Amino acid sequence: MVLQRRKTVTVEVGGVRVGSEHPVVVQSMTNTDTADVEGTVRQVAALWRAGSEVVRVTVNNEASARAVPHLVEGLAARGVFVPIVGDFHYNGHLLLTKYPECARALAKYRINPGNVGAKRHDENFRTIVEQAIRWEKPVRIGVNWGSLDQALLTEMMNTNARMPEAERLDAQEVLRNAMIESALRSAALAEETGLPHDRILLSAKVSGVQDLVAVYRKLARLCDYPLHLGLTEAGMGAKGIVASAAGLAILLQEGIGDTIRVSLTPKPGGDRAEEVHVAQQILQSLEIRSFSPQVTSCPGCGRTTSTYFQKLAEDIQGYLREQMPAWRERHPGVEEMKVAVMGCVVNGPGESKHANLGISLPGTFEEPKAPVYVDGEHYITLKGDHIAAEFQEILEEYVRTRYTAREPVAATVTAGT
Ligand code: SF4
Repeated sequence: MVLQRRKTVTVEVGGVRVGSEHPVVVQSMTNTDTADVEGTVRQVAALWRAGSEVVRVTVNNEASARAVPHLVEGLAARGVFVPIVGDFHYNGHLLLTKYPECARALAKYRINPGNVGAKRHDENFRTIVEQAIRWEKPVRIGVNWGSLDQALLTEMMNTNARMPEAERLDAQEVLRNAMIESALRSAALAEETGLPHDRILLSAKVSGVQDLVAVYRKLARLCDYPLHLGLTEAGMGAKGIVASAAGLAILLQEGIGDTIRVSLTPKPGGDRAEEVHVAQQILQSLEIRSFSPQVTSCPGCGRTTSTYFQKLAEDIQGYLREQMPAWRERHPGVEEMKVAVMGCVVNGPGESKHANLGISLPGTFEEPKAPVYVDGEHYITLKGDHIAAEFQEILEEYVRTRYTAREPVAATVTAGT
């Protein structure tokens, strides 16, 4: 499906093009200590392997600034060439100036205009921009309402308070406008300093869905910079996933958003790559981009008293995910494949016929057989104790024959793109 995207300029981030002429880019951020080069290399590589096309790391102190070039080298040694973005707060002007190798190694700098220092705000901001000009890097001006420029907010609140009562906005509206103003003023300052128009991306992240939609709709109308979308501090588990999906889906459906990040709080010891899978799934569910084959499975009901079909759906989903890094290279187009795993004959055959491959398992008290459909036609009926393994073989054979095989080309370099 081709959605009408809001027209934006193209910004190149370490070889990845971001803008309306290019696919919406999935990005993520590490949660390791950047000064721990080995640990950060491992996590960046894992995020990249999951499909993250740009990875941001925090550069919060001298140790992390010193580590950045080693991080990029370490990734290259593993065959991982993903653009690394530096996230700067408070001391970015100092670190980028003092550590030119860090400034050079990064593919983009993220500046939060609320966190560049209150007293010398413009001076510090300009210093970062001058480094971006010197090293020919783009910047993301990333406003966040948790750290909004307080001087600007106070100025706008005061101006609003002086307005005639009928024209006065409520405080929430002023806050939203202040975020937009902060992003646009900062972009104007960056351009005045000499940064080209096509080296600026903007974001204005909030933690509520309705605020997110309102802020981005307005920001989108006021500029043609590419927008980085994301609900900040989305939260954990289902809440974080659903809130991110709800907010991002509304905007993406309207053509707003050129790169996305899903900011999930992982469980202790949880998989950081989950945020990449969720971001991809949002885009794929909206039919904006395809990343991996989709499994359609019914929720199950009283007709499926065993967990057999849930297990099969989970196994197939896991199997497809595991295969994708290799399949992506060898079998182009496989990411469009649809597989249906259904619990009984009520909707099973019908749903299976809409998929490339479908299996309808026997429900409780149904005859113990599982019809398999290939491209909408009945292909075989499986019986016995090895239904799962036999279905997987049919799946493998389908991928081999349907999606033209090609030799892997430098698979270690391109598997995460
Ligand atoms: S397909 Fe069958 S098992 Fe699945 S939800 Fe529908 S009736 Fe229940």
